[in-house]
Amino acid sequence: MSEPVSAPLRAAVVGAGPSGFYLTGQLLAEGFQVDLYDSLPTPFGLVRAGVAPDHPNIKAVTRVFEKTARKEGFRFYGGVELGRDVTPQELADRYHAVVYAFGTATDNRLGIPGENLLGSHPATEFVAWYNGHPSYADHEYDLTARRVVVVGNGNVAIDVARMIVLVEEELTPTDTADHAITHLRAGQVQDVVLLGRRGPAQAAFTNPELRELGYLADADVVVHSEDLVLDPLSAAWLESEDAHTTNRRNVEILREYSTRAPTGKQRRVVLEFLWSPVQILGDTHVEGIRIVRNRIEQDAGGALRAVPTGEERILECGMVVRSIGYRGTPLAGISFDERRGLIRNAGGRVLEADGSVRTGSYAVGWIKRGPSGVIGTNKKDAADTVARIVQDAQAGVLSADRPDADAVEAFVRGRVPGVVSWDGWRLIDEHETATGAEQGRPRVKLVRLEQMADVAARRQR
Ligand code: NAP
Repeated sequence: MSEPVSAPLRAAVVGAGPSGFYLTGQLLAEGFQVDLYDSLPTPFGLVRAGVAPDHPNIKAVTRVFEKTARKEGFRFYGGVELGRDVTPQELADRYHAVVYAFGTATDNRLGIPGENLLGSHPATEFVAWYNGHPSYADHEYDLTARRVVVVGNGNVAIDVARMIVLVEEELTPTDTADHAITHLRAGQVQDVVLLGRRGPAQAAFTNPELRELGYLADADVVVHSEDLVLDPLSAAWLESEDAHTTNRRNVEILREYSTRAPTGKQRRVVLEFLWSPVQILGDTHVEGIRIVRNRIEQDAGGALRAVPTGEERILECGMVVRSIGYRGTPLAGISFDERRGLIRNAGGRVLEADGSVRTGSYAVGWIKRGPSGVIGTNKKDAADTVARIVQDAQAGVLSADRPDADAVEAFVRGRVPGVVSWDGWRLIDEHETATGAEQGRPRVKLVRLEQMADVAARRQR
């Protein structure tokens, strides 16, 4: 920590997910006052609406954030949407620093025919649905399909596959949204096929997540042994310093899976490698997916790429989940790097379209660096942005006069009379955990904004 900033400088942080919260904690420690905004009345971003409900240990990071929220100088403004209720310029006029921490809310597209058929879904939405995000609570997923194909070889693809095959005893102790539990319980999916466009050596899974597939209550994990015969380029790469231990362990885990005989469980998670989707088939609704076999080639930059061989096959399925990475959405008035799908920035300092620095505006987390890393990665990322904010503060760049904290409170309440404070969120939290306790679950999530507003308003000023 550097010398605390002198007069209380005030910052708005937009997005109460992991990166926003880590950054808030660090700015408070630097002597800033921080107003943390979120478009939802509930905090914690992807920890609440992204992390799989059967991973409660990962969700326990919220205890760190709760400690931050108890610190002097912290305020929460839940239910305030940037771009709808307030603009970037309005925040810039009221704070010494504005930090964008709103993550990457949308999905990458495959760009193939049939992608928009009914039954073809982005993983981002499916994940938000089973996690009870209010904007996705009314989405519908046809889990009566016998086979679901999940495109992508990252941890989100694994989460999606696992959630689909969990059985009652695995689902019940979680905080999966009630609507999703009902549907998942009634599901008839027998096979979930995960499609990797490259080989096992290049899979983006982390080891614990891949290992977990081997311990499902009623689903066998299936890997074809011929997929573990690595092409020479992949084999050499795996032995090289460029490969990570994670890649090597993934291959070992997959090799062990490939030796397993089916144990007679009702469901199967099948991992297939070196296949890319070329078309999602069906008239109005997904009926199958046409895929092409790839081989690995090295491009001019030395990267190992998937190149189609021309060999094709069709997999019948009733649902396709596209889990090929997240993407940021542009914000009016803030320069956006279209290619990378994030706010144009240099180490967290927001840039204008001409490359000059937009004084007092910063970015952190996925909207700054792209959708990669685990929750803890955001702590270091936040520290990098905070270092620049403090540098700018010490250089006198953030010294313009700004309205005081009370004036800002009045402004926000004028825009969003039902704004939810931290105390309001605590009431929602108590309500959810109390209802959960009656059922032996960590919480039963409220998934309607009106319900949340009612509960939050009960004892709020
Ligand atoms: P990811 O790890 O970046 O994986 C994306 C996958 O999509 C890759 O396998 C990629 O293959 C594939 N892909 C991209 N474009 C494709 C295309 N056009 N066709 C076919 N496949 C394509 O992303 P993610 O799974 O969304 O996860 C995001 C981040 O959150 C990651 O850092 C992840 O580890 C983290 N996360 C962690 C946990 C956990 O710790 N439990 C859980 C969920 C997410 P290529 O490699 O060939 O590009």
